[in-house]
Amino acid sequence: MNNVRVRFAPSPTGPLHIGGVRTALYNYLFAKKHGGEFILRIEDTDQTRYVANAEKYIIDALEWCGISFDEGPGKNEKYGPYRQSERKGLYKEYAERLISTGHAYYAFDTAEELDAHRKDHEANGKTFIYNWHNRNKLTNSTSLSKEEVGQRIANGDAYVIRFMMYQPEIDAATLDAEDLIRGQVSFKRELLDDKVLFKSDGMPTYHLANIVDDHLMCISHVIRGEEWLPSLPLHIALYEALKWTSPQFAHLPLILKPVGKGKLSKRDGDKLGFPVFPLKYTNDKNKETSRGYREEGYLPEAFINMLALLGWNPGTEKELFSLEELTAAFSLDRVSKSGAKFSPEKTKWFNQQYLQNRSNAAVTALFLPILKQHGIASEPAYINQVVSLVKERTVFVHDLWDLGSFFFVNPSEFDAKATKKQWKPFTAEILKNVMTVFQGIEDFSSENTEKVLKEWISSEEIGFGKVMQPLRLSLVGALKGPHLFDIIALIGKDNTLARIAKAIDTLG
Ligand code: GLU
Repeated sequence: MNNVRVRFAPSPTGPLHIGGVRTALYNYLFAKKHGGEFILRIEDTDQTRYVANAEKYIIDALEWCGISFDEGPGKNEKYGPYRQSERKGLYKEYAERLISTGHAYYAFDTAEELDAHRKDHEANGKTFIYNWHNRNKLTNSTSLSKEEVGQRIANGDAYVIRFMMYQPEIDAATLDAEDLIRGQVSFKRELLDDKVLFKSDGMPTYHLANIVDDHLMCISHVIRGEEWLPSLPLHIALYEALKWTSPQFAHLPLILKPVGKGKLSKRDGDKLGFPVFPLKYTNDKNKETSRGYREEGYLPEAFINMLALLGWNPGTEKELFSLEELTAAFSLDRVSKSGAKFSPEKTKWFNQQYLQNRSNAAVTALFLPILKQHGIASEPAYINQVVSLVKERTVFVHDLWDLGSFFFVNPSEFDAKATKKQWKPFTAEILKNVMTVFQGIEDFSSENTEKVLKEWISSEEIGFGKVMQPLRLSLVGALKGPHLFDIIALIGKDNTLARIAKAIDTLG
């Protein structure tokens, strides 16, 4: 495929939903697969919905995911600027060109008038649509005389520019388009409305800015969410009216709720306890905070892998893919038409796989900041050994702390239920003897302590449970943790003895 140029074109209206991240990912994979460019364009023409920290959030999120763009705000701006608000002066010319070729018109209807029409229609159970069937009864340059239009503009009357979506005498009844995922899609022109292209505030609408920029930035393929499919006929009609070659289109399926029907929303995440945003986000207006995958301990590779398979499949059983492997395997023909159900459990599974596949040294590096937060400054070699003992039972890096904090902090409390069950009147006496046995051991390796202690237990005919369970409780504070003698070897002789002494002291 030649000169593939795709873009991710988010509107900075808030944090990026995981559906948006997936759109960016598929664009990136498609571009890289075909040796093309992936462009980030910020679509910020709607001033009313603009949120100041959203652009930074989008860029940070893409960076965390490892989805790097080739061109975008502040980067390789050869078709720049890449922020639509900075391209403001560029769009009116095209709206006017469409007027001069008879494809668009000035409309002077006020917001109140349009509202009254809407209400009128609603009262009769109908929907008000501004289009071919009523445009010459409304206040616009198709219904007013040329002089009056000129006069109104000269007077500074507010106007918008609308696209003439359908002219029954000229246009075919249907508009057909090819979607790379859905195949042929057909739209009845008579049902479509005359969308506003240019607003009274001097800004283009999304539709005009979007197609002008895709054209000027030489975009070859538009890969975007299914929610934009209804805009496709307008976009195709605009390319035709401007006599531009349109890019190819691919509309991605929705990401669906884990339970029930419909699109995955923030509410589902809040209800079922998982994030729907890549990073934590704090709304700068009401200070409301949304959870993020990064902050909850997900590895970006796991997150991306999960997202890639949400709507695309490789055609094989393989599930674990690096970004490079995804790039090699990705194709739009394996993107499904129907929605993909999000699974929080599967997302955790991916994280677990990636964590388990990382080396102990790599996991240790991730664990260090968590230890620091808990005021622990142990030797990396020691931490590495803790990691090697508890890693296999973790899904998240922070699980290492939950499962192995006792390696760093001597227990000061002992699980009440376990104590009740395992700490008997004779236990202190047994453990005092265990201390003597341990004191006599030179080689404090896991194998040797196990061998010596077990031989002692057998010779004393005490019963393993009576020794092992209270011993574990003394060392860990609960009846959990890896192989007891691995714990003993790692914390060492002095600490082992100190912990047993403390337990005897506390539990009597
Ligand atoms: N600005 C639109 C959005 O926020 C872009 C849609 C498109 O890719 O054409 O999703």
